Amino acid sequence: MPEVKFEVDVDRAPDEQPGAKPFNRWHPDVPAAVEAEVGETIRLEALDWTGGQITDADDPNEVRDVDLTQVHYLAGPVHVEGAEPGDLLKVEFHDMGPLNDRSEFGFTGTFSQQNGGGFLTDHFPTAAKSVWDLSGYTVSSRHIPDVRYEGKIHPGLAGCAPSEELLAEWNEREQELIDKHAADPESIPNHPTGEAEPGVANPPTTEGALMGEMDPDEADAAAEEAARTVPPREHGGNHDIKDLSIGSTVYFPVYVEGAKFALGDFHASQGDGEITFCGAIEMAGYADVEFDLVKNGMAEHGIDHPIFEPGHRGPHFEDYVTFCGYSVTEDGEQRYIDSHTAYRRASLQAIEYLKKFGYSGQQALHILGTVPVEGRQSGVVDVPNACSTLALPKGVFEFDVSPGNLENRADRGDLLVTDEPLQ
Ligand code: ZN
Repeated sequence: MPEVKFEVDVDRAPDEQPGAKPFNRWHPDVPAAVEAEVGETIRLEALDWTGGQITDADDPNEVRDVDLTQVHYLAGPVHVEGAEPGDLLKVEFHDMGPLNDRSEFGFTGTFSQQNGGGFLTDHFPTAAKSVWDLSGYTVSSRHIPDVRYEGKIHPGLAGCAPSEELLAEWNEREQELIDKHAADPESIPNHPTGEAEPGVANPPTTEGALMGEMDPDEADAAAEEAARTVPPREHGGNHDIKDLSIGSTVYFPVYVEGAKFALGDFHASQGDGEITFCGAIEMAGYADVEFDLVKNGMAEHGIDHPIFEPGHRGPHFEDYVTFCGYSVTEDGEQRYIDSHTAYRRASLQAIEYLKKFGYSGQQALHILGTVPVEGRQSGVVDVPNACSTLALPKGVFEFDVSPGNLENRADRGDLLVTDEPLQ
């Protein structure tokens, strides 16, 4: 087994970890907690993205009340010897998995519209939760009957620290969007309507910030400008790509000396789009990673975003039921080649379809957020309609889910849903 260079205790809070503290903001000055050489394979462990706020208890209020200023808790930063700005950091994911000896469950949530919201929050405004059993790579949930499959394990979040200049650029452009929304909410086409949270972007905040091993005197000032880990950006970050699984190799742009690589937000499985938002099957986990460098690789390959080569482990599904959506809203408004709307419509078609087999809408939502569904931008040229598709693997169900098989309909109960308001 590779040396565990970042270890977590899942029974303790993030700021009470016995070893190096995790961190939850992007800033070039968060000090490296781990040193690694090129060619060395090391193991990194990470808490689940919320830092243990959501347990395996049958209590959906944990999702409703989650403190989102704290996310995501990351392992690292790793100082890779010899990495310099302009390089590509090659990261080979040799292995990854749940922390089976300490934490054998995963969870999926639907955020309350007042705390988190999400892709389909106008359709699912109420917080809900499902708990998953992790048996090796096979997953099942006591809250979603007749679904059992091999998950597609991956870190939702991985990347290198931004430079001071890049951080300033992120803050400037995201604040512009926030200002634009404040001046004219209607100018942001795909933002959920009404009082829905979250905002269109999350500006820096010291609330909930944990800056790893940074000196407490400096940590507050850094947190005031440090980027939240919510969106993916040029460095990678929270890209939630399900195919970044075991055996894959990722090339991350390097912006600071030593790269300061970090990862976290492990998912036992996820569907393309992570449409549940809270999220995939979330869990604490580990990854065994080996580093190499492509010197000056950003300029030589013309790349300033991550690129990756997927692994081969699978799971591999052969048969799918595929749903189509176009860029026309639920209210019949014609949008111009808008893949976001098209994917939402494809997702809603799949949810209505699964309801006919006896699942609740919330159960169907959690199935689509966690099963390795394939989401595609099938067409982006046929004005005015984009076409997006969502392909649902049939093999994850313990019955035939093809059209014409509604004799397989059964009462399949519901998730843990709360209708109590936020406290
Ligand atoms: Zn996640």
